Amino acid sequence: MIQKIDMHAHVFPPITREDAERLDAEQAPWLQIDANGKTGHIMTGNQKFRPVDSSLWDPARRIAAMDEHQVDVQIVCATPVMFGYSWPGPAAADWAARMNDLTLEHCSHNPQRLKAMAQVPLQDLELACREVERARNTGHVGVQIGNHVGPRDLDDPQLVDFLIHCAEIGMPVLVHPWDMMTDGRMKRWMLPWLVSMPAETQLGILSLILSGAFERIPRSLKLCFAHGGGSFAFLLGRVENAWHHRDIIREDCPRPPSEYLDRFYVDSAVFDARSLRLLIDVMGAERVLLGSDYPYPLGEQEVGRLVSTADLPSATQQRIMLHNTVEFFGL
Ligand SMILES: [Zn+2]
Repeated sequence: MIQKIDMHAHVFPPITREDAERLDAEQAPWLQIDANGKTGHIMTGNQKFRPVDSSLWDPARRIAAMDEHQVDVQIVCATPVMFGYSWPGPAAADWAARMNDLTLEHCSHNPQRLKAMAQVPLQDLELACREVERARNTGHVGVQIGNHVGPRDLDDPQLVDFLIHCAEIGMPVLVHPWDMMTDGRMKRWMLPWLVSMPAETQLGILSLILSGAFERIPRSLKLCFAHGGGSFAFLLGRVENAWHHRDIIREDCPRPPSEYLDRFYVDSAVFDARSLRLLIDVMGAERVLLGSDYPYPLGEQEVGRLVSTADLPSATQQRIMLHNTVEFFGL
């Protein structure tokens, strides 16, 4: 019997240098595997982007790690460096299709236990809609998008139209922060991951709420934000207070921000029992899904440990570990 589904895990398939060069020889990411077959680097052109190991690309190793943590099903999605949003639409569309096929190939190792979320060329609405439909028809259970495309946040009319399209075809969406705000003060200690990433996610949520986009997006859209929605839940009170006391915040948003909480979900990757309890308190137990960020070092190392040790009622634990995700993806 299935008891635990991890809905936020990354893959980086064995993208060859030739694959990458078809998109951009200097910038597109590819996988350099060491002679031992177990370690390597994500490369961009000749540059080492990130050291990685085979848990990212070897499905057998992934399944073994899932067994170790009693994860029955994992839903895998691209590592954000694969998004390709800065290239011209047609080239990015070919790339996204190739990435989606490689991700499905990874999951075909054990299709009962590995499910795939697609990526799309989000910079081009028409091509993104076409690829998300193709992905759904070839077996992807959802689509992952970045929280912005260059200067365009989620309230951008084309991005809202993409979300509406996903609602219409019944494709669940995971929003993942990426391409984080950086400047000179963010250089050290992985600050873009610690400060900017949660802010990017909060920005994504607020751009949908405060722009009034949720008034246009069908309620049927299944929309989830990674990392517990970033800073959102903890700072909702600040936004709510601002909405009541400053008319410029009410300009496009007809209802208090807290009234939109039933329009999206968040994962459980917050790493602290107090944060998780706050998240459940703010969002409701039915809106939090187990997500680990496997296999990256900033993910939950023992998948599900936080949910099982946060002193939650067992019905809440089961919802987060299983039922909410089954419902979200229609599995
Ligand atoms: Zn992630």
